[in-house]
Amino acid sequence: YGRAPAKVAVSSRVKPILPGAAIGVLGSGQLGRMFAIAARQMGYRVHTFSPETDTPTGQVSDIEIAASYDDLDAVRRFAQGVQAVTFEFENVSAACVEAAAGFVPVRPGGAVLHATQNRLREKGFLAQNGIPTTEFAAVRRLGDLPAATRRIGFPAIMKSAGSGYDGKGQAKVASMEEAGKAFINCSGQEMILEGFVDFELEFSVVVARGVDGQFAHWGTIQNRHKHHILDLSFAPAQMSAAVDSRAIECSRALADKLDLVGVLCVEFFLTRSGEILVNELAPRPHNSGHLTINASRTSQFEQQLRAVCGLPLGSTEFVAAAAMANLLGDLWQNGEPNWPAACALPDVKLHLYGKIEPRLERKMGHLTALAGTAESAARTVLLAREKLLRVE
Ligand code: AMP
Repeated sequence: YGRAPAKVAVSSRVKPILPGAAIGVLGSGQLGRMFAIAARQMGYRVHTFSPETDTPTGQVSDIEIAASYDDLDAVRRFAQGVQAVTFEFENVSAACVEAAAGFVPVRPGGAVLHATQNRLREKGFLAQNGIPTTEFAAVRRLGDLPAATRRIGFPAIMKSAGSGYDGKGQAKVASMEEAGKAFINCSGQEMILEGFVDFELEFSVVVARGVDGQFAHWGTIQNRHKHHILDLSFAPAQMSAAVDSRAIECSRALADKLDLVGVLCVEFFLTRSGEILVNELAPRPHNSGHLTINASRTSQFEQQLRAVCGLPLGSTEFVAAAAMANLLGDLWQNGEPNWPAACALPDVKLHLYGKIEPRLERKMGHLTALAGTAESAARTVLLAREKLLRVE
């Protein structure tokens, strides 16, 4: 299985940014690191911008700039040193993106960030475009709760509308009282109340769209979360071909509507009645797409680079079924994990992000396994992770 990207003639209007050029990355985590590795493989230079130093991205970049995202003069200087800017961290302000866009293309553009960095705007955008999503209501003040809970019912999930990830700022609530507490715990920030979906499974579709509209996708990837954090992904997802193609069409429509240039991950719930609901959008490579590094002819990071630079997209064909297991800081609780034990499995690949401090729930790395089927890849990758905890 696997796919070649949709053929679109490379327009002569779009002048590609060629190898040798410097690409700027806003943000400096593992997504930027894997992007930088792909970019340097193809002969590009990478400059990263974030408030920290010795970061996962900085460690593999040509230049690491440490400044606040609000220091617009520093952002302007950064943009003047590169030929295009992309991001791996979505919570940069509109002012920061505008400052960079005054000098070079920012891909994906500021409008995509604006639509997706706030859950209320994102859900509003989905609803306006007829994309099925969870029931939701805005909770901007405590007084909004009675009407919101009447409409959504219980159980429900309260989520902070801005800057939430991996379940941070989220609470499942079963009564008005609990919803009120969740609002107060979030220090009065704008929130969204979502209907709780008793889903059959969760999956995502990672897509890429080029400067000239060329489209590519890696099919459906099934996801399992633990404590709201992604734990295991495997591809292809175990779903019917009909659901598969509905989800891909929906993701393609979203990429077109957003006029995306870059990579977009669409996270879905498959309900018990066979409906697909969009949970969340991320306009960048995504944790569930990490398995594409080893399993696909073109990884999500190389594809981001190609899209950002105006190059043709690469083939997204899979060379095997695959599974990915996250390695959180929790694994270090009893000392350094047993890396040789996991590496002893021949079809397993180790990815570590260069983070020094293994804090609980911190994403430190991941393992990928390739196999004949997604099920068998998932078994292997979980076994490999288990072996990390074994003293031999
Ligand atoms: P999010 O940060 O919105 O992606 O949420 C993280 C995880 O929490 C999701 O992947 C689901 O496992 C769970 N979750 C979020 N929203 C809902 C919902 N409305 N109903 C059921 N589970 C949810």
